[in-house]
Amino acid sequence: MDIHLKHIHKRFDGFAALNDVSLDIQSGELIALLGPSGSGKTTLLRLIAGLEFPDSGQIFFGSEEASQKSVQERNVGFVFQHYALFKHMTVADNIGFGLRVRKGADRPSSANIRQRALELLDLVQLSGLANRYPAQLSGGQRQRVALARALAIEPRMLLLDEPFGALDAKVRKDLRRWLRELHEQTGHTTVFVTHDQEEAVELADRVVVMSQGKIEQVGSADDIYDRPATPFVFSFIGQSNALPVDVRSGQIAYQGRLIGKTDVSDGKFQLFARPHDMEIVEPEVATVAGTVSVARRAGRSRVAEFDSGEGRRVEVELPADSAVEIGSRLHVRPTRWRLYPELTA
Ligand code: ATP
Repeated sequence: MDIHLKHIHKRFDGFAALNDVSLDIQSGELIALLGPSGSGKTTLLRLIAGLEFPDSGQIFFGSEEASQKSVQERNVGFVFQHYALFKHMTVADNIGFGLRVRKGADRPSSANIRQRALELLDLVQLSGLANRYPAQLSGGQRQRVALARALAIEPRMLLLDEPFGALDAKVRKDLRRWLRELHEQTGHTTVFVTHDQEEAVELADRVVVMSQGKIEQVGSADDIYDRPATPFVFSFIGQSNALPVDVRSGQIAYQGRLIGKTDVSDGKFQLFARPHDMEIVEPEVATVAGTVSVARRAGRSRVAEFDSGEGRRVEVELPADSAVEIGSRLHVRPTRWRLYPELTA
């Protein structure tokens, strides 16, 4: 089922949690909503679920307008970070719950509900655990049961709000891979909320990057890593250095020193460069220099930081065997960058 959001606004006590959000999700897509705490991800998911309603704007499921429909009418499956299973019910009964509470002709027979629960347990790779109680499961198993329960009602889409958020890193990683495979098997349109960029890019077909109630960028992992649309996305997706530069006749200069060429027209810009896209050069060709204040090992590389003047911190990622020490002078220049127009307040 494809989902279309058109100019959604949502305020809480005058605070704009969502500010003119429009998004088209194709049928069968796995979409990650990625952003820092408070950016509006959960609010957007709750609006799609029907747990909240927009102040203005419209939500379409296919060509049908769903903006004011109830949760039940929308027939969506959702799983939250702490979406507790019913403690006093077995795994199979938890999974069948959504079908058992159906009324009249919509309610399958008990035997069919049991059968369906067992099939779903198989699908989430937990067959054999039907008669256990939630307390007898690991955290990862519980979230898989929660997912099976969401799938039991044959939802038109799956909405997942940090479903693996409370689990430890290893389990989380395994479940991520598992969810991706499950998605390929079932093909449900899925919207997944996370504040973890690795999780977002590993799982999703497309990532929606949000900040302060707005969508900053919608794109593939490659788009957001290699072609971040805004300074926010550039900084959120990895470490970054930002330098205010001037462009004149196609030449980019930082504090009068030439960085390189561009085809943008003259003006003031912010130049963003990743720490691993800064190289050490001879002083005469350096564009940025400073005295190292921090030098540390970071995995396979070494990271050095210095102040390039006016309190502007520059971070450089170097090979692990680089001889950089606190107090030594570093001369660098960016080898790859992106330019963004300087924001005028
Ligand atoms: P997190 O990652 O922390 O869950 P989020 O990106 O999901 O954050 P939301 O939960 O959507 O963010 O919240 C967006 C903003 O709206 C926040 O500033 C939050 O305080 C506010 N907000 C959300 N729900 C309500 C509510 N029911 N009443 C008042 N304010 C709310």
